[in-house]
Amino acid sequence: MTTFENRILHYMEAGFPILYLNTFEEGKAREAILSTFAGNLGRTTILEWDGTDRICDICTGEVQYETTNYALADVLDDRISIQNSAAGHQVMILKNIDTFMDDPAVIARLKKMAERINSGLLDATIVILSPILRISKEIEKYITVIEMDYLIDSEIQDVIRNLAKANDKTIPDRLIKEYANAFKGLSEFEIQNIMQLILSQNEEITKSQINLVFEQKQQMIKKAGILEMISPKESLDDIGGLENLKDWLRQKEKVLSDMEGAKAFGVDMPKGVLIAGIPGCGKSITAKAAAKLFNIPLLRLDMGRLLGKYVGESEANMRKAIELAEAISPCVLWIDELEKAFAGIGGEGSGAEVTTRLFGSFLTWLQEKETPVFVVATANDVTSLPPELLRKGRFDEIFYVGLPDRDEQRKIFEIHIKKRRPKDLQSIQIDKLLDCAKGCSGADIEGIVRESVERAFAGGKQVLTTKDLQEAIKNTHPLSEIMKDTIEKMQKEYETRKFKNASH
Ligand code: ATP
Repeated sequence: MTTFENRILHYMEAGFPILYLNTFEEGKAREAILSTFAGNLGRTTILEWDGTDRICDICTGEVQYETTNYALADVLDDRISIQNSAAGHQVMILKNIDTFMDDPAVIARLKKMAERINSGLLDATIVILSPILRISKEIEKYITVIEMDYLIDSEIQDVIRNLAKANDKTIPDRLIKEYANAFKGLSEFEIQNIMQLILSQNEEITKSQINLVFEQKQQMIKKAGILEMISPKESLDDIGGLENLKDWLRQKEKVLSDMEGAKAFGVDMPKGVLIAGIPGCGKSITAKAAAKLFNIPLLRLDMGRLLGKYVGESEANMRKAIELAEAISPCVLWIDELEKAFAGIGGEGSGAEVTTRLFGSFLTWLQEKETPVFVVATANDVTSLPPELLRKGRFDEIFYVGLPDRDEQRKIFEIHIKKRRPKDLQSIQIDKLLDCAKGCSGADIEGIVRESVERAFAGGKQVLTTKDLQEAIKNTHPLSEIMKDTIEKMQKEYETRKFKNASH
């Protein structure tokens, strides 16, 4: 029996009336309930209501009750009237009930059932399966929330060892440790399934099969829908300029690559960095290059996807995102456009309230986190960010990224020309380009190179010339021209706030 199954059984045996399994993996939680009673089904009936018009015995498929109006209250009424019988314990799984959680009729019946269970009149356990945590105040005290915990390292190692043994295979300890590390963040079911697959398909277990684990992790993150796992291709060498910021990241890399040594030396666990500044000047590319430098997964948090439509849903999603990131740690958690996520804090209306609460839980986590989740938050406009976030102790450092100077522009031109036309780089007079590229951002420069290469190709040319690039510059309206006022305002703002300059 798995740890999770053991916990379910323990709560049921102890007579807890309502268990709330808060999980995205409804199917797996349901499987766990079934296997909890696998050897014991003579005394337990497992019933399920999934939001349709009937209650079924999920072991026999028998319909136990039918309603014509899909009303959960009617279903519960039917259950309340059931007397304890020789049929033994009834486990009543309720799925898709989120929309009913505000219904006073449903709440009253759940309360009545819970009271009957508590007083021994009803031999049953209600199990609510839902990815969303919505609990009405009236029944709060009858509900026990069970999260499908992630396993700790030694538990994962045990799962691997036991499965290997059951399959008559031996895996060296060193490899078990590597597998356990890769499995971190997956549920016990997923670990068992993947490991079983690996064991059954391969005579000898090697390191190369670990790839399957990473694929599964990507799946898991995709399914949860809040985080996106990105495989970064960009390295620090792909960033022109921003030397201060790059040096700072290199120092953090030293800490992250030897956490134990750093801790023993008295170094604090790195929290992360806020990179603010002008659009198209390398904030996102730096977030990606940081993950590549640290050699850890990059998870992008889309704040838009986090906001749910039900009360408590956004917070639950935030908690889930943090849990996922912690389970997968060490990792970089990239929060893009931070200002969009937390705009409207402290305002009025329910939307603002949700944002304020979300912000509060994010801040607490950021302040207290002990796990190696390195946060890289990027923002264009910090003026709309709440001051609490900018206070010392939240991030290890706040950097300001401005428009590249002439030297930085040179490097950016070189990087992008080299990427596309390495052979032509020598013959291109970059100084001439710089003379007419004043105010161009990194993104502008990339656009110039991209466009000129395409034109040269379409024009049947064999090489890219300085002239091609100059033509493209002429057709470009640099960012500093388009956003002149905003950029000047931003620049002043960052200077007053004394953010560290990412460049020098
Ligand atoms: P936004 O705020 O609009 O998201 P950003 O600051 O995050 O902008 P990036 O997405 O990092 O900008 O940059 C856009 C593109 O411009 C990148 O893909 C990269 O190729 C190029 N670029 C920007 N700055 C640099 C730089 N310093 N060195 C090399 N390339 C750069």
